[in-house]
Amino acid sequence: MHTDDNLQRRGCSLVSICTLCKAHLETSEHLYLSCPFVIPIWQWLSSVFPIQFNLSSIADILKACNFH
Ligand SMILES: [Zn+2]
Repeated sequence: MHTDDNLQRRGCSLVSICTLCKAHLETSEHLYLSCPFVIPIWQWLSSVFPIQFNLSSIADILKACNFH
């Protein structure tokens, strides 16, 4: 994903800010786990599907989607 932290790791010099909340650095973890704009989306998904999402890490979210 083209987040600011990934672009910086590849040598791009830029100032990082989340384009949604404009209050935090734009990292994958922030965008998927802690941005105030994404939390309601996870809550909505939990209400629609019988899944309890663990927002500790992206890997934990993916584990919740493993229905095997
Ligand atoms: Zn944010």
